[in-house]
Amino acid sequence: MDYTIYCQGCGAAIQTDNPDAVGYMPKTSSKSENILCQRCFRLKHYNEVQEVEMTDDDFLSMVSHIRDKEGLIIHIIDIFDTEGSLLKSLPRITGNNPILLVGNKMDLLPKSTNKRKLVHWIRSLAKDAGLDVADVYLISAEKGHGLEELAFQIEAYRNKKDVYVVGVTNAGKSTFINRLIKRSTGEKDVITTSYFPGTTLGFIKIPLDRTTSLIDTPGIVNKRQMAHYVSDHDLKLITPKNEIKSRTYQLDSGQTLFFGGLARFEFIKGEKQSFVCYFSNRIPIHRTKLENANNLFEKQVGELLSPPSKETLKLLPDMEESTYKIKEDNIDVVFPGLGWISIKKGNATIRVYSPKGVSVSLRKSFM
Ligand code: GDP
Repeated sequence: MDYTIYCQGCGAAIQTDNPDAVGYMPKTSSKSENILCQRCFRLKHYNEVQEVEMTDDDFLSMVSHIRDKEGLIIHIIDIFDTEGSLLKSLPRITGNNPILLVGNKMDLLPKSTNKRKLVHWIRSLAKDAGLDVADVYLISAEKGHGLEELAFQIEAYRNKKDVYVVGVTNAGKSTFINRLIKRSTGEKDVITTSYFPGTTLGFIKIPLDRTTSLIDTPGIVNKRQMAHYVSDHDLKLITPKNEIKSRTYQLDSGQTLFFGGLARFEFIKGEKQSFVCYFSNRIPIHRTKLENANNLFEKQVGELLSPPSKETLKLLPDMEESTYKIKEDNIDVVFPGLGWISIKKGNATIRVYSPKGVSVSLRKSFM
């Protein structure tokens, strides 16, 4: 294209190169008068919100005008990957607008999860990241759990103003919004009411009433998300589909656990104890002696130690190691986007390996 065309729906500049980016339109459909990007097209005709990606910088420059508006911010995070999905840059773009932090994919956590502790932990995580949140809710957008309560609270908090939904890609933003659309309009004939040409670049507006809208912002790409470093095939393997079943290993010091070849846990020093592992069932766990671990990894990564597949290996950063002396009891060692290991008894020294940039973190266990 030699001149810029804008989408009639969201105002984004139309491009035909990148299906995952804002303003994408397949080349074949460029003849129509009423030009819509694929995302707006799908919303209009199928009433379906499709995710598009943006880098953190694109996002910042595009959405920082929210700062100057008044509205409620709904920040959707993936409860299974809080590291990868909590937006530390949020206050810069939302100004003084109230934020509801919504932990999605609750259906993946074991039923024994202590929700009160989990909410408390999410609050402290947000606080550490400099996010001042009005409230925290737990939902499963896919199963529809917690949505009634959340919808009720949104009405209360929004104070008759617009609602902005923000989140990284893969947190479940589209699933959530599609649920909301269905919920408020019923299954049929939603098109005319849900599709509203917007004037804000790249945003999609879904009317809530005569004067206010729910505004979907494009999904942000966070480099700390494991999802960006694995093939689509492997992403399916590492993402649990259903409630995670824990797998428990009794380890002596000097033993290693491999989670496929994507994460590695070494028990360096401490009394024999059990380590409870919460990972997708489709990630195989291998136990070996510390002294064999390097050799095994070098020979078997992508083979016996898989995922990663060969395809993922091309995307995956090198492994980075860190050592922790754990003093307290009941600590989780979190491999972002993959899962975590609960350690009941403190006074243990461990060494962990994870892909560079997707760093391991520790938290108080909420099981
Ligand atoms: P978006 O990129 O933030 O719009 O995320 P999507 O809505 O496309 O969801 C990303 C992935 O997470 C998809 O595979 C969804 O099926 C899945 N997903 C979304 N919500 C839930 C949920 O509540 N529970 C589970 N288990 N998976 C979910």
